Amino acid sequence: MGIKVCKFGGSSLADASQIAKAVDIVKADSDRQFVVPSAPGKRNKEDQKITDLLYLCHAHAQQGISFDDVFELICNRYKGIVAELGLDLDMTDHLEKVKADIAAGASADYAASRGEFLNGPIVAAALGFAFVDPAQVIFFDKKGKFDSEKTQDVLSKKLAEVGNAVVPGFFGAMPDGTIKTFSRGGSDITGAIVARAAGADVYENWTDVSGLLKTDPRIVDNPMTIATITYKELRELAYMGASVMHEEAIFPVRKAGIPINIRNTNAPDDAGTMIISDSDTSGKLESITGIAGRKDFTVIYVEKALMNSEVGFGRKLLEVLEENQISFEHMPSGIDTTSVVIANSQLEGKLDDVLKDIKHVCKPDSVSVYENMALIATVGRGMNHIVGISGRLFGALGKAKVNVRMIDQGSSEMNIIIGVEGDDFENAIKAIYAEFVG
Ligand code: ASP
Repeated sequence: MGIKVCKFGGSSLADASQIAKAVDIVKADSDRQFVVPSAPGKRNKEDQKITDLLYLCHAHAQQGISFDDVFELICNRYKGIVAELGLDLDMTDHLEKVKADIAAGASADYAASRGEFLNGPIVAAALGFAFVDPAQVIFFDKKGKFDSEKTQDVLSKKLAEVGNAVVPGFFGAMPDGTIKTFSRGGSDITGAIVARAAGADVYENWTDVSGLLKTDPRIVDNPMTIATITYKELRELAYMGASVMHEEAIFPVRKAGIPINIRNTNAPDDAGTMIISDSDTSGKLESITGIAGRKDFTVIYVEKALMNSEVGFGRKLLEVLEENQISFEHMPSGIDTTSVVIANSQLEGKLDDVLKDIKHVCKPDSVSVYENMALIATVGRGMNHIVGISGRLFGALGKAKVNVRMIDQGSSEMNIIIGVEGDDFENAIKAIYAEFVG
């Protein structure tokens, strides 16, 4: 017997029938002792998330505009869910208090957090689990930074005491007791914190997809699901644009060596994706795990004869970036050339100054700029064990007539990053996917 912590996202709890599915999932396995719900999300594309409605109530209240109508929508959602589930639960007092608090000037964080807070008693009643208010067990410090030690201490004791519990996601308390939320999507973080405090064997993150896909479904039709991925690989893919779960949710469980299992509430028999420890070498090594990429990078090429023997050249170049408050992504270099790859968003309105400063500080022979670069990362922990991966990669790109403008194999040896022209982005991803996945 082990302990499983289940976080259910907004789409998994959007209405009574979705909540009923979540309840069935939890009840199907007695190891599923702790549940972290999000607020009810969208029931369809046109629908509104409860969290967004609460932010709207807050904004109206701040401007002295009536938010009765918006709050009515919120009341109807919760009351409808309770009635449809046939629960013996009256939400009226809870709802009235939230409305009065918002009208009295409660903070945006308080307002937004009520989406999860109000869903907690409903999910707890449906499961017959205890309800634990995160304000009592999840803490931030004076500066608003998550207080991991205090939380671990208090929360682990509380969970051991209650046995089975529902701990709503997304928020905790400041030292003075006021409510603070994590950033948007932050229920994932609560799930990870609860998993660590419970000493869980697995953190199940239930959502509306059967795991992570090997690449972007907007580019490749029906890409395969990734069966297992390490935390490091996930970081690389997420950094390159793959949308997974909240970035900060990885750290608490990674530290505790707890795997995350991404699962689909609407297809509970699918195994989903297992996110495993970096040192876990079990299982079949595939040549590549996933492909992700981002468009809109600029490359600044700097050329200077005998650059390689000029002490401090690299420092000077990077200092120019630092002084202009610009972070860079890559720095592929040759003997007499060096280049920096920078996200366009970093350079907005600054390119001319940067070029002027480079000319002044580095005294190069020439500087040129290419503004339409896309980066694609092909990630796989199997890469450093399997011979011929890069040969196949570049062969496939050549066949697809994609001009590779930059190559960078991450020092981890599990990531080959290529730079291609923005217009070749989709074709390049399709070609790499076809070569390695089929
Ligand atoms: N309800 C919050 C949001 O919409 C947190 C979450 O769902 O994870 O951002």
